[in-house]
Amino acid sequence: MAVGTWADRVDKDAILAMASDLIAIPSPSGEERAVMDWVANWCAERGLNHEIVAKDPNRPNVVITVGDPAAGPTLVMNGHLDTVPVSDVADWRTGPFAPTLSEDGVRLFGRGSSDMKSSTGVMIYLMEVFQQAKLKGALQAHVVCDEETSATFGTIHLMEEIAAGRLPRPDYCLIGEKSDLKVRNAERGLVAFEVTVFGRASHTAAARVTGINAIAKAAKAVLALEHDIDKFHPAVGKPVISINTIRAGVAHNVVPGECVFSIDRRLIPGETTETALAEIREALDAIAAEDPDFRYEVATDPSGDAIPANITPEDSPLVRAVQESARAVTGEEPPYFVAWAGATDGRFYRLAGIDTVDYGPGGENAHGANESVFVGDLVTQARVYADAIGRLLDAR
Ligand SMILES: [Zn+2]
Repeated sequence: MAVGTWADRVDKDAILAMASDLIAIPSPSGEERAVMDWVANWCAERGLNHEIVAKDPNRPNVVITVGDPAAGPTLVMNGHLDTVPVSDVADWRTGPFAPTLSEDGVRLFGRGSSDMKSSTGVMIYLMEVFQQAKLKGALQAHVVCDEETSATFGTIHLMEEIAAGRLPRPDYCLIGEKSDLKVRNAERGLVAFEVTVFGRASHTAAARVTGINAIAKAAKAVLALEHDIDKFHPAVGKPVISINTIRAGVAHNVVPGECVFSIDRRLIPGETTETALAEIREALDAIAAEDPDFRYEVATDPSGDAIPANITPEDSPLVRAVQESARAVTGEEPPYFVAWAGATDGRFYRLAGIDTVDYGPGGENAHGANESVFVGDLVTQARVYADAIGRLLDAR
């Protein structure tokens, strides 16, 4: 099959229509039912094999399938249709639920246009493009709710269904979150630490006699920890450490006996909770070595929501296919996405051992007023996906 055959079936107007239809149905997290019903109806009208998979009937997901998982690999495209709510409607030049194309045709405006109804729309649309294809394997869309909140009702629920054998286990997963048409094959992890610095409470009058000021001691620790970390990973960039909360003191005339601060630490591949903790201890022990009054304790992952750094190796067939398809469609070498970005639902697939790549359009003002997506990027995304699906599933 000549390169481009599948990519050439991509129709810009169909993508714009799909994105606009999805944006026009408000779906803040928790209220995804109407937009999911719309997707299910769209599939039913076309005879596309689809299934509602829901932990709560009011927060459904739609799984769309073409091909046969028993005949080869299963390639999943995961996109969410929930959005953040609109809290700034007066700042919008167009209604957030009135999808509007800019006069030059470059941008499509609306809540969810960038994050990420347009991109999810590309995935749903591609299921129709491949509906009649002969695939060596299966193509699925996991159209999910609850990405902007906990994922409990969305991707986490689908992973539970996969683990229970009620959905096929994907071999590959494409995520369509904004990546500016760059290849995102890894995500930083995160872990929190809570440091308690101990002093000795006393009357202010005796601050220099019996008091040990825990705030002053903690200040040394904060300054020792709050810095750029001199490490770099080509897929995600640098790790991050940031001290984001601090609390101490009971009254203006009492030397504080205790000061507690929290550390947000973002991990790159190769780093773990243990290595990050060891670095923190090393910095704090160095203070203690010079200051016998400096005493501390560290609590690791106090709320239990740590996420490991996760990466799909560069030599994965999925990474290779997306890179080859991006080269074929754009004529350029796609860069890796190295940016200060948050996590996506891709981590749930990666942590389950499923090769996962994020490749999505660029956009502006996600979560803010006048959110928009770049229409040209959406078409490129769709063409790259179509070409990669053709390669990975030997589509004919
Ligand atoms: Zn998103």
